[in-house]
Amino acid sequence: MHSLCRITGALILVLLATACASGSVASATPQQPSPSTRIGALPSGTFSVTATGETDPVPHGGDAADDPAIWVNPEDPSKSLVIGTDKKRGGGLAVYDLSGREVAYHDDGAMNNVDVRLDIVVAGNESNNTIAIYRISDGSLMPAEGDATTPGITIYGNCLYRSPLSDELYVFLTSRKGQIEQWQLTETGAGQFDATLVRSISLDSQTEGCVADDALEVVYFAEEKVGIWRFGAEPDAEEPGTLIDTTDGGHLAADVEGLALAAVGADDGFLFASSQGSDEYTIYTRTDNAYLATFSIDDGDDADGTSDTDGIDVTTVSLGSAFPSGLFVAQDGKNEGGAQNFKLVPLDAILP
Ligand code: CA
Ligand code: CA
Ligand code: CA
Ligand code: CA
Ligand code: CA
Repeated sequence: MHSLCRITGALILVLLATACASGSVASATPQQPSPSTRIGALPSGTFSVTATGETDPVPHGGDAADDPAIWVNPEDPSKSLVIGTDKKRGGGLAVYDLSGREVAYHDDGAMNNVDVRLDIVVAGNESNNTIAIYRISDGSLMPAEGDATTPGITIYGNCLYRSPLSDELYVFLTSRKGQIEQWQLTETGAGQFDATLVRSISLDSQTEGCVADDALEVVYFAEEKVGIWRFGAEPDAEEPGTLIDTTDGGHLAADVEGLALAAVGADDGFLFASSQGSDEYTIYTRTDNAYLATFSIDDGDDADGTSDTDGIDVTTVSLGSAFPSGLFVAQDGKNEGGAQNFKLVPLDAILP
């Protein structure tokens, strides 16, 4: 049994019991630790939280940091990583530990959005308009070999989808013109991937943020001036999509930016959205996308708050004593005293 399973801290016992029972913590092959099965009172109304940590600033000044992704370490979740993008010329992917310290920086191009499934990391490289694919091995980000794929559209955002039906991995690419492409990523051997276009979707205007819910086979897109769309994520899913919240009389203020999914159990949990125009985040139920609450990240003792907020990510996996119920990460458009960075909020501050 993994040593983590012997920890008897009261709060994480329930989470660990789930993880240990399913064997996911001790698994030798990469496997996502089980998400929380705990769901407390539903968040409601408008509230504020503070960050308990923040990452080192990204290398470039101006509007450089955009989107984070959380990689959950299957061996030791307290050694999980936050990957953040720097979208300026000469930008790349920064890798941070959970204290926010930069442990690596890959200056591979102007990366705008980034997403993770198990040990596979995919970012959109705006410098050469390619899908940048990496693997995490021994806690390090390694470029996957193979020919970089150039899509038919100019990449703006991207997110991953692992089909529970076919087990195929897909990346959704979004664009400033509202075009969306779904590409199937097929591993062809030793860390190489082929990409095949399987579907195109058109929205009316600039679309960036997206997130897929693998278990429920749906994907959400943020049409920045309009709202959040829900589509079936399978390549043959029926269209059109459904607008679940809007900037026009809804709970969002343009631009709608990052989207993130907090899984609780198999099919419960929450969808989060970044409402850039109001410096806030909105929360919806995962299954029927009912609006629940709006919150901001305000100045606190450990870090300044977020404003002009961009990409976000969230996990409900316990990441150890600093983030016992999971972690919410948000880009900060105006980091006090430095270049832009990412703020780290314990999930129990948002979902008590
Ligand atoms: Ca920005
Ligand atoms: Ca992301
Ligand atoms: Ca944007
Ligand atoms: Ca963005
Ligand atoms: Ca700030």
